[in-house]
Amino acid sequence: KLSVENLRINFGQKEVLKNINVSFVEHEITALIGPSGCGKSTLLRSLNRMHDLSPDAKISGRLLLDGTDIYAKEVQATKIRQRIGMVFQKANPFAKSIYENITYGLKINNLPHGKDVVEKALREAFLWEEVKNDLKMPATRLSGGQQQRLCIARAVALRPEVILMDEPCSALDPVSTLKIEELISDLKDRYTIVIVTHNMQQAQRIADKTIFMYLGEVKEEGPTQQIFQQPQHELTSNYINGQF
Ligand code: ATP
Ligand code: MG
Repeated sequence: KLSVENLRINFGQKEVLKNINVSFVEHEITALIGPSGCGKSTLLRSLNRMHDLSPDAKISGRLLLDGTDIYAKEVQATKIRQRIGMVFQKANPFAKSIYENITYGLKINNLPHGKDVVEKALREAFLWEEVKNDLKMPATRLSGGQQQRLCIARAVALRPEVILMDEPCSALDPVSTLKIEELISDLKDRYTIVIVTHNMQQAQRIADKTIFMYLGEVKEEGPTQQIFQQPQHELTSNYINGQF
């Protein structure tokens, strides 16, 4: 289980996350929603220890993965990133072949990286049939939707426990988006998934739980149906009705 306790993040003087307390349930899809700038990406990145890369970030509070403090000094960031994978808004395959996109991280993590592992990951990301004859092709020649599925394959290949996704469909056409939604729903049997989305229909189609953030705080959270059908806060209802 992944949980966040009293998390605060400052960038310089600016307090971007203010006392966040949330937990993400295994084998559920949690959607993070809220207006631009409210801190969704910052929260997601903190779970992947990305703030190690940002010297001006000040973090306090605890982020626990099955009781392990993600930020503990003795815990390696690469190990955390193996257990908690990340998929970004813009598909970012390495400038390598499709095959090497999968094996690269496996080698770094000293995990098996044979052809069977590559096939399994590509199958899991609903991509195998489309690329099985082109494994040596540069990944950048794939379509946008295929590149995003490759990035998901690259994440699942590492056998993570959690997959974080920051607006994974916002650069894609509607058909590719639905395909990725179907894929994400399929993955939830095996992984805990947290997805940031600006697409309210998408949240309702795939998320079990929804968290609404506003100005660095969690304003409301609950089962997705409840958030969308009986929001308790005026801010939530204004946001989901497209008023800001
Ligand atoms: P969007 O929906 O537009 O992606 P978001 O909810 O993901 O927005 P964040 O990217 O988390 O928002 O940003 C929250 C706030 O933190 C913003 O005011 C942003 O300017 C600020 N911020 C994020 N990263 C940094 C940084 N490295 N240095 C300074 N400020 C930052
Ligand atoms: Mg963002």
